[in-house]
Amino acid sequence: MSIGTPTPMLTASARELEDLDRRHLIRSMHRGDITDRAVIVRGKGCNVWDARGNELLDAAGGGVWHSPIGHGREELAEVAAKQIRELEYFTSLLEFSNDKAIRLAARLAELAPEGIDRVAFCSGGSEAVETAIKAARLYHHRRGEADRTWILARHYSFHGATYGSGTATGFPPMQFGVGPNLPHVEKLSPPYLYRAKDLYGDKDPTDFLVEELEQTIARIGPGNIAAMIGEPIMAAGGVLTPPPDYWPRVRAVLRRHGILLIADEVVTAFGRTGAWFDSAQRDMEPDLITTAKGIAGGYVPLGATLMTDEIADTLINNGGFFHGYTFQGHPLACALGLATLDIVEREGLAAKALTIGDWFRSALAPAAAFPAVGDIRVEGSLAALELVSDRETRMPMDWGPVEQVAFEIRRTHGVIARPYGQMIVLAPPLIMDQGQARRAAGAVVEVLSRLGADGRIAPAK
Ligand code: PLP
Repeated sequence: MSIGTPTPMLTASARELEDLDRRHLIRSMHRGDITDRAVIVRGKGCNVWDARGNELLDAAGGGVWHSPIGHGREELAEVAAKQIRELEYFTSLLEFSNDKAIRLAARLAELAPEGIDRVAFCSGGSEAVETAIKAARLYHHRRGEADRTWILARHYSFHGATYGSGTATGFPPMQFGVGPNLPHVEKLSPPYLYRAKDLYGDKDPTDFLVEELEQTIARIGPGNIAAMIGEPIMAAGGVLTPPPDYWPRVRAVLRRHGILLIADEVVTAFGRTGAWFDSAQRDMEPDLITTAKGIAGGYVPLGATLMTDEIADTLINNGGFFHGYTFQGHPLACALGLATLDIVEREGLAAKALTIGDWFRSALAPAAAFPAVGDIRVEGSLAALELVSDRETRMPMDWGPVEQVAFEIRRTHGVIARPYGQMIVLAPPLIMDQGQARRAAGAVVEVLSRLGADGRIAPAK
């Protein structure tokens, strides 16, 4: 495999943009001491171009796994222009709505698992999770169970960055140093089979996790718990697929105790793992679903909280759901959402996600032998390589070296992969072809072949 170092062309305008970026943009999830900047100015298909003119292969679905249909689609530009000419926005609060929000809500109800027919729109995943948490609490309150305020979530989950969703998120840096977080949130162990021995001892993972859930419910008191939130498969946690009996058994326990289940499908919906909604494949039977990211292809921000008639009716009767966002049901976002879902369907992108997963599985396999690679997991089009500083003890690699791995993959191969914790994650646009998937996986394998367990990357040969 050749190492095609992108040729930087540091023009005055690229330099100016990078300098202005360093001076003015506050970057999330990026250490202040990292000065490297990639200013993306154009995209087409699975490729994007930076301000220096480097072509980069997007194996991270727009960076945060939100791009099912790829970049720069003419068709979406036309839909957007048409919608702006017709109506850019008028509120969807009170008695108002618009044709695109109505049609997208109906389409989502058609695609969602049985019994989920109502939709509250918003502008992203964190907002969708806020809506779900408030809806779950208010639902119980309205039914005379005002003590049901606790939310169960899991370590290694990602649910967002606002106070509610950020507290439910299972990564402590999200809660650190920002004062009291949302009260009444309890974290459970995740289904993390690579670490089964440490987490569950000799017990069957599902037996352990269900027992822990039962004990937690008994400790907090079933009459005090509103809902459990969980991603069907945990994406940011490192593509953690639960055992097949996990969700059905968790579901049964929750149902027995009158606790609602929120499926966070911000990453997994709209084809990413081979289905419209991944919860349907895991027998999760959620009461509410949160989604965002790929719903409008990443062309505009859009999120949604889906729920059953019973929950929706309970919220809107008896005084209404005093909740909402200025731009909920934005017709431009919903028009692009409808167009995106049409493309996912027309181009068979859910099935394609499984094919991409097969390509990744075989192309990434050589990395399993490397000293710093602990585990390789593929689910649908999502792939995670878990990096360790000791394969024997499975000690997770520090986040710093993992970020350097992602930089090196981009710098030496022009491929964008996502570092998250001790993981390198791939989640490309679902239009990726076999040559591109091989190139992306090959880049990851090549760089990891140079990574020592001490986190050092040897120079390219
Ligand atoms: N839920 C999940 C599963 C996510 O992965 C994310 C973001 O990565 C969110 C919620 C938050 O979404 P947003 O960043 O759009 O607020």
